[in-house]
Amino acid sequence: MSRQHDKPAVAVPKLFVVATPIGNLDDLSPRARATLAQVDLIAAEDTRHSAALLRHHGIATRTIALHEYNEREASAELVRRMQAGENIALISDAGTPLVSDPGFRLVRAARAAGVVVSPIPGACAAIAALSAAGLPSDRFVFEGFLPPKSAARRARLRELAGEARTLVFYESSHRIVEALADFAAEFGGERRLVVARELTKQFETLLDGRIADVAARVAADADQQRGEFVLLVEGVGDAADGAKLAEGRRVFERLRRELPPSRAAKLASEITGAPRRLLYEGLEASHE
Ligand code: SAM
Repeated sequence: MSRQHDKPAVAVPKLFVVATPIGNLDDLSPRARATLAQVDLIAAEDTRHSAALLRHHGIATRTIALHEYNEREASAELVRRMQAGENIALISDAGTPLVSDPGFRLVRAARAAGVVVSPIPGACAAIAALSAAGLPSDRFVFEGFLPPKSAARRARLRELAGEARTLVFYESSHRIVEALADFAAEFGGERRLVVARELTKQFETLLDGRIADVAARVAADADQQRGEFVLLVEGVGDAADGAKLAEGRRVFERLRRELPPSRAAKLASEITGAPRRLLYEGLEASHE
């Protein structure tokens, strides 16, 4: 009986979409490494950039460039090769191909031509950041890069200001300070923001707090403006709930000076709409 994990990495001619590390070269899975070593050809966003990763892992497979400027023509050629029986792996400079990276045209063309396309999953900066940010992660929206010019960026952020799900963005070091200032202008300073910088690398940092505070902290510290960034903002629903709870606790604390806790919690909940149960949780925590 064949079991999924016993399958050889390369069995039939295919396009393998292989995730590579987002900084730490050891974040390449054994299956990704075996696949890259066994395919006939690796289509890489930047062959010189990927050479370091391949060398690090002792992979000698030939590479060919597939980037946003040649993707259309290169895809047609690669599909022909796969139809002729070659196995090809697609990689980008970092993380998962197609996620703010080239590859969509190749994958679509391969599937349209009946080539089997198989993912070899691994690192993705957005998911890595979400996994460590402590923001609601059951529903989230990946927005990729914002427009580079401030007017267009603010217009996009304005469209997203009512979004209830956690928002995830990519941003470069050139625009990090301006982008955070635009977050404060369009989302207000109160929502929670996490700035995930240089994930898996030496200077990995996750800053977490109110948009206004984190934006000010990054603007004041040149070190916090270096490297690669994922920006995560809590959705408006969660922010509204958070504000309601904060107000509920404030009213509860005040009433508790005059009333028994159960009566204070009931009234605070009626006045602010904050759930009574959570006001009690606050009481238990404050007694610990
Ligand atoms: N395909 C990649 C992925 O799966 O995450 C993303 C490629 S996109 C061209 C590059 C952007 O991803 C960077 O500008 C940054 O916003 C984000 N990024 C990549 N590596 C990162 C890291 N180590 N730490 C934080 N953000 C990173």
